[in-house]
Amino acid sequence: MIIELEALRGELILITGVMNSGKTQEVINTIDCLMHSPHRRAFMAFTNSRNTRDGIKRFVSSSGLRSDEVFVANAENPIEIYEKIREKEVVDGMQNIFIFDEGNLHTYKFVPVVKDLMKNGKVVVVAGLNLDFRGEFFGPMGKLEEIARSREAITGKKLVDMHHSYCCILRDEKQCGKKASYTFRLIKAENDGNLGYFHEGVLFNSYIKAPYHHPTILVEGSVGGIKYTTACSECFGELPGKSLVADLLSYTMDHENSKYNDLVDRFSKQGDICDALAYTIEEKRLDMFDGIYRSRIKSGGLNDKESRKLVEISKARDSSRESHDTFDIYHEIKSRRSISREGLKYKFGKIMGFERILADLIKARFLMLDDAMLKTTRYVKDPVSDMYIPLD
Ligand SMILES: [Zn+2]
Repeated sequence: MIIELEALRGELILITGVMNSGKTQEVINTIDCLMHSPHRRAFMAFTNSRNTRDGIKRFVSSSGLRSDEVFVANAENPIEIYEKIREKEVVDGMQNIFIFDEGNLHTYKFVPVVKDLMKNGKVVVVAGLNLDFRGEFFGPMGKLEEIARSREAITGKKLVDMHHSYCCILRDEKQCGKKASYTFRLIKAENDGNLGYFHEGVLFNSYIKAPYHHPTILVEGSVGGIKYTTACSECFGELPGKSLVADLLSYTMDHENSKYNDLVDRFSKQGDICDALAYTIEEKRLDMFDGIYRSRIKSGGLNDKESRKLVEISKARDSSRESHDTFDIYHEIKSRRSISREGLKYKFGKIMGFERILADLIKARFLMLDDAMLKTTRYVKDPVSDMYIPLD
């Protein structure tokens, strides 16, 4: 993409769509053009702090920029972007063009930063998946598309570059091949996997769809057996667990202050209710308060079967290969015999897989959770980002 600075001042350009659709290549090409342009010193390329270390390294090596020329935008606190801009302006003068890769990993807090840069006459390019693995808008991407579309309507310029790909799902013994708009998360099945997909012409078989209540951000390969591919709307279909989440949310809406254990009893026949509850808490759709975690393991060590199970949970849920989050949480509760949810959250609440680890420990009967209550989160319209955000 050639960026004509004067014609695009104050605009937001989105490079978006499904995975494997050439979005990253478009970003790389844009950077390549800018490096040979008069704007060589007046643009900044950002990747995202929630990207994996590998992802950041890949971006550096493919963009042709030196590692000190690729900036990391902090998804938790995007205001830091201004600091990085000021630092670069001290060396290179006024910065005019800002490219943000992995825009989908940002939160609503990124929207006012984008709007502010636009207001100041900058060119803002955001690349990222428009939809998450559930087929729902990913982070702020829906809002950013709305902003770019409304500018398209006013200016007549093409600002949304929507990328599609081909459906890779096995259908009637061959690759489906229809236009794909969905990024599809699959799990390697132990026995009854009925889905297959093609990767560069090679068929991979015996997968199942990831359930709706899976965590929103999961890097391929980080958890055993997770794969991503592209799908058309027919092959994507409905995700398992979606109706469980819908029923759970509507029940808690009607029954203010539902007890955790009552919900587990009521919905356990419908699917993995502990995981579904972890999802609603993680995504701030329900708020869990009070509650005491108690260890169910009698004093003495774990038997072989229990040890294996704990390792399995750790492999699936720990935030990185180097961390021991599952063991730390388990030992904390076991050594104290019981701990309030508030106390546990204070110590471990920032860990990315926190709710999932606890849900798994409860399912595996390492712990129980007593007296915890859930209520529907109230949302307010945030005047700055213009998005609905949870009222904390
Ligand atoms: Zn298809």
